[in-house]
Amino acid sequence: MHEMQDYVNALLFNFTGYLPAQYPQVEPVEPAPHPLKDADVIYSQRQLDTDIYLGKYIAASRKIELYPTNIGVVADHIGCEPKDLKLVVLIHEWCHAIVHLGLEKEEWKEFSWYSQNLCGSQKADEILKKILRVYEGIESNLHEQIAQFLTYHALVRKRDSNVDEAAKNRADRLIATFTKLMQVQPRPYVIKLNTIPERGLLALNLIKREHLTGGQLQSWQEILDCR
Ligand SMILES: [Zn+2]
Repeated sequence: MHEMQDYVNALLFNFTGYLPAQYPQVEPVEPAPHPLKDADVIYSQRQLDTDIYLGKYIAASRKIELYPTNIGVVADHIGCEPKDLKLVVLIHEWCHAIVHLGLEKEEWKEFSWYSQNLCGSQKADEILKKILRVYEGIESNLHEQIAQFLTYHALVRKRDSNVDEAAKNRADRLIATFTKLMQVQPRPYVIKLNTIPERGLLALNLIKREHLTGGQLQSWQEILDCR
């Protein structure tokens, strides 16, 4: 959990600049809603949907579910350490939470003030309702592109900012795990690794400020691919 928090902090404070209005709860769930043990889904082409088989972020209750047995089965299948895959899945789910709960600094200050003062509780509730509405308005394919984009760049930043050789190697292993998983996943999870990170952040800000209407995948791609 400590390591996950490191990645989450890097994403929040160094990469997106967002601050969390609230924190999600992480909860391992056994058995998973869709156990993989005897399923042929792992042997089929590109069927491994993270949010069906490995974990899930539930925005309405701010909860991250993790499915450890399925994570073990998939780790065996793609050839990585279960603990590495678990961390990659956790970061992915946390990225959904950041898209939902991350506030820009000014809005966060406003929210914190309202939520600490009795007379502001209604205003704080309005902000919570607004961010849930924005989150739920984003197309599901775009949700996956954003979560994958944030996960990948969190891992890369962590690798590049580490001076400690062991920590660098660890981040490299997580990047390898991320790309191995991506190879068995359906299209919404597949991202281009060479896009300019600032473009994605700009697009995400526009979505969160409701300037990119409807949270559509096409607008996101246009901003990322713009020459
Ligand atoms: Zn997801």
